[in-house]
Amino acid sequence: MNYTRRGKIDYTRPMLPNLSHEEILRYSRHLLIPDVGLEGQRKLKAASVLIIGTGGLGSPVALYLAAAGIGHIGLVDYDVVDRTNLQRQVIHGTSTVGRLKVESARSRLLDLNPDIQVDAYNQAFTSENASQIAAPYDLIVDGSDNFPTRYLTNDLCVLTGKPNVYGSVYRFEGQVSVFDARVGPCYRCLFPNPPPPGLVPSCAESGVLGILPGTIGTLQATEALKLILGIGEPLVGRLLLYNAQDMSFEFVKLHKNQDCKVCGANPSVTELIDYEAFCGVPGHAVESGSAGKEWDITPRELAGQLKAGVTLKLVDVREPHELEISHIQGSQVIPLGQLASRLSELDPADEIVLICKAGVRSTRALHILLGAGFRKLHNLQGGLNAWAIDIDPSQPIY
Ligand SMILES: [Zn+2]
Repeated sequence: MNYTRRGKIDYTRPMLPNLSHEEILRYSRHLLIPDVGLEGQRKLKAASVLIIGTGGLGSPVALYLAAAGIGHIGLVDYDVVDRTNLQRQVIHGTSTVGRLKVESARSRLLDLNPDIQVDAYNQAFTSENASQIAAPYDLIVDGSDNFPTRYLTNDLCVLTGKPNVYGSVYRFEGQVSVFDARVGPCYRCLFPNPPPPGLVPSCAESGVLGILPGTIGTLQATEALKLILGIGEPLVGRLLLYNAQDMSFEFVKLHKNQDCKVCGANPSVTELIDYEAFCGVPGHAVESGSAGKEWDITPRELAGQLKAGVTLKLVDVREPHELEISHIQGSQVIPLGQLASRLSELDPADEIVLICKAGVRSTRALHILLGAGFRKLHNLQGGLNAWAIDIDPSQPIY
């Protein structure tokens, strides 16, 4: 791989594959563009791209790269398709709920374009297997939804000299960049360390506008194609900030950090690291949010105690708008973000049961109350979603 004067990546291989007549017909609209043409399409056929995650970002990335004729696509995911995915993960369908995501995605891609090779890796992406999985690929697209995978992908790309097409989404906002430590900054140049586990909510806890990863993933796919074709100005050294509410696109100039832990002059990160997994990752419909055995109360135990007339203080730490989806009668609502400033509303003498959607936020609430000296605390394990399954099927799961 070579770089041109403008810092672009030239993927031109000594031997580009030929296109069949069927392929020439399929890619006709590409061949008409002078910047792509027959040679560009042959570059796409010769290229190999590994996509981390087949979720909200991975869906449009994989669909458009397959449609564009990327000859070899790898898919990494270890999840199964569930119904809450379908609001944004458009590579999957109702008919593939319950199937492995990589298999669901692979069959969709091969239906879209049977001329390409799609390899599926049904495993978690970890320091153990990342190098081996990524080895055959020219370029990595990060479609992950969590910090441990994002740092792992970044470090892998820096250490093996591959471009990392990065994207992330949160509710109405998204970011895109191309990190290539050989010609620009890496993700760690911006954010040296991951935030502590539990600080940043997952999609399953905070929500995301379904179309948002569609926009961001499509931009990532565009950057991948530009890098492979060697056209335009890639987002190397620039971070695109997108806000769907304002429909604003802003660019922040990024600089390489000479003291970067992984791509700086004296790196301290010289091998891959597995950071502690975050609570609530991946975004299953029903997470088993647990605060540990000594604090957890199961839905069955709670129902039994309420039925037996045990006096319990139920504290629901979700946002007020979530109450109309599901709730337990008699709960007091104190959103997690307000808990620290509303401690005076709670009595440490009460037996307090903390409740949320899936047991993740309530676990955080439990630690806040522990820090404030409360001891008679319980966490509803699995939250209201588990309550709906085990005790009250009239309530929906979300
Ligand atoms: Zn760096």
